[in-house]
Amino acid sequence: MGTYIVLIGVQGSGKGTQAAVLQEKLGLLHISTGDLFRAMKTEDTPLARKVQELMAKGELISDEITNQMVEERLSKPDAARGAILDGYPRSIGQAQFLDELLAKQGDRVVVVPVLQLDREVAIKRVEGRRYSQDKKRVYNIYFNPPKNEGVDDVDGKPLIQRDDDVREAVERRIDLYYQTTQPLIDYYQARGIVAEINADQPIDKVSVDLLAAIARALMQG
Ligand code: AMP
Repeated sequence: MGTYIVLIGVQGSGKGTQAAVLQEKLGLLHISTGDLFRAMKTEDTPLARKVQELMAKGELISDEITNQMVEERLSKPDAARGAILDGYPRSIGQAQFLDELLAKQGDRVVVVPVLQLDREVAIKRVEGRRYSQDKKRVYNIYFNPPKNEGVDDVDGKPLIQRDDDVREAVERRIDLYYQTTQPLIDYYQARGIVAEINADQPIDKVSVDLLAAIARALMQG
């Protein structure tokens, strides 16, 4: 039996950061569909080009393509103990697909933590992100600016913004998130496995709340 966790949170809620904490503390694989799709950027196939085009516009990839990619990833041996799903499912169709996929191996989603954050804070957290050129350091021009505007503290080179983090695409993704996520939360709520977490707190405090919610869910079985 694996421990499958569906981590939900608006872009900017620290979902990726918290998924990394959970991966370390619980020893579970972190699967981010956004990262898997971004990894397709280096590929030059018709499918990869279509994915890049939709991502640049802040639109969702079809359930069919997304489900197939997740099924492939979950079938690898390193996912047998369970996984933290980040950015997936994003639709009821994807949620049902995941349920059926896990049921085939005698598993199920055990808990769905939802990281709560206001729309405006979420937009600033994402739109304000800037990376060092080696991607090793991340800043935020509103909440965590570099010492000198526009350049990395360590190597002094100009900071870069992820091309799907421009304001228009960010607002579109965030609004799409609120529209598409509520039905998904309702879907899991009906099963009593949703755990609401306040994401407008320091990272460590969010992790503590999250781990406590997961521990409670696992104890309830
Ligand atoms: P994210 O990093 O989670 O915001 O994902 C970035 C982009 O990848 C999204 O704007 C979508 O274009 C695509 N994407 C990621 N996950 C999914 C999903 N579950 N269903 C459809 N598209 C997705």
